[in-house]
Amino acid sequence: MSKFYLTTAIAYTNAKPHLGHALEFVFADIIARYYRAKGTDTYFLTGTDEHGSKIYKTAKEAGRDTQEFVDDVVQHFYKLAKDLNLTNDDFVRTSSDLHKRGAQKIWNKLVEADDIYLNSYSGLYCSGCEAFLSEKDLVDGKCTNHMVAPELLTEENYFFRLSKYSDKIKDLIKSGELKVYPDVRKNEMLAFLNEGLQDVSFSRPKNILPWGINVPNDDSQVMYVWCDALTNYLTALGYADGDTKVAKYWPCDLHIIGKDILRFHAGVWIGMLLSAGLPLPKAIGVHGFVTSEGKKMSKSLGNVVDPLDLLATSPVDAVRFYLAREIPTGDDGDFSKERFNIVYSSDLANNFGNLASRVVSMVHKYFNGVVPTITEFKFEPEFADCFKTYCSEIENFDIKKGIESVLHFMTLLNQYVEETKPWALAKEAKTAELALVMGNLVEGVKRVTYLMAPYVPNATLELAKILQIDLGLNFEAGFKSVVAEKTLGEITPLFPRLEI
Ligand SMILES: [Zn+2]
Repeated sequence: MSKFYLTTAIAYTNAKPHLGHALEFVFADIIARYYRAKGTDTYFLTGTDEHGSKIYKTAKEAGRDTQEFVDDVVQHFYKLAKDLNLTNDDFVRTSSDLHKRGAQKIWNKLVEADDIYLNSYSGLYCSGCEAFLSEKDLVDGKCTNHMVAPELLTEENYFFRLSKYSDKIKDLIKSGELKVYPDVRKNEMLAFLNEGLQDVSFSRPKNILPWGINVPNDDSQVMYVWCDALTNYLTALGYADGDTKVAKYWPCDLHIIGKDILRFHAGVWIGMLLSAGLPLPKAIGVHGFVTSEGKKMSKSLGNVVDPLDLLATSPVDAVRFYLAREIPTGDDGDFSKERFNIVYSSDLANNFGNLASRVVSMVHKYFNGVVPTITEFKFEPEFADCFKTYCSEIENFDIKKGIESVLHFMTLLNQYVEETKPWALAKEAKTAELALVMGNLVEGVKRVTYLMAPYVPNATLELAKILQIDLGLNFEAGFKSVVAEKTLGEITPLFPRLEI
């Protein structure tokens, strides 16, 4: 059986989740559900990044114990995962013992490869970014992400010999052995690699940062974010204890990340794995940022969309579908209440919901709910095209284009209803013709239900009950499953009017 291991980035627990976290969660969950529906042994990991100076500072300012502070913040991420109907197999926390031991094991591998050395480092440090910035990263002397001037810091650090792997990493990305989606991000990374990667500062003195993972054999230092955070993808599988999950699922098939952390994943992380002699991930899928009502979200503008609030007032399927359908998978996108309503009513309620409800109602009206038999599906070629596009788009990290192919197919079915006019056929008592039309329509709705399931799991589950189909079947078995001669359940509104 083939396997697919995918991860989200781990969320930084210095604040509650924002809409970008929801976006990444949804993208990952759709892809995970898609691979499971293909019959692939899928493992989906998400989690939280709980160390670092920023968290330490935030907790201290709030007068809290740091562990207790992150224990509280992580609850919001658990809730977001639950409210979004996420099917993650595990949730890794970097303050866990399993992770800490795993990170130390990887550190030791890098030491064995002679890629860790002690040096003193001076640089412009932004605590918001938790990174040393170069002069050219600054605008008016300030970090462009945080709008604050970085502080000049000199300290004794361990360094990782990343420069040694720069050319190798470039080759891997250029050749496509390590895929980076979309192309614009791949090219951005290649341009960055053309300048050559430099060694990176890999630890912090403990007196500056008491909140982190101890460097093995040096009590005065803790690991900096690279070995602490990036390693989660491996440690969560039980790397510290040589767990069988490592053998089963590593290397990762897809790391899903935001565009701001591409360099770390396609650079530092790959270098670390090369140094440790571990197999490399297959692909990195990079998404953009979400604006609100056309503007960057900010408290001062009052346009911040809290995903937990949104989920408290809107159906989860509506939120999932909006993010997948409206935000270009590899690019920035916008959240607006108006678009949220439009997308919901046009694609879900009118196109999908209306198709399902018309078809089921007509089967009840004209055939007492019993689905007529057809010998072959009229739209087999169109469906084959739709499914092929759906698969290739999702597998190439474009879940927006993936769902668009299904929406086109639904439109085709809706047009078929308009053209064949089953109500007229019924009036004229053309029963054989009517049976053929309805049999084809039910078959079409059935197939669409399987393809929509990763995007809108609740509504499709409800529809599956009405159609008497098993959504637990994989795509291939599901498409072949027989609906003819089954008695359909009564239709209920799958996408009731939104009250937002
Ligand atoms: Zn910054």
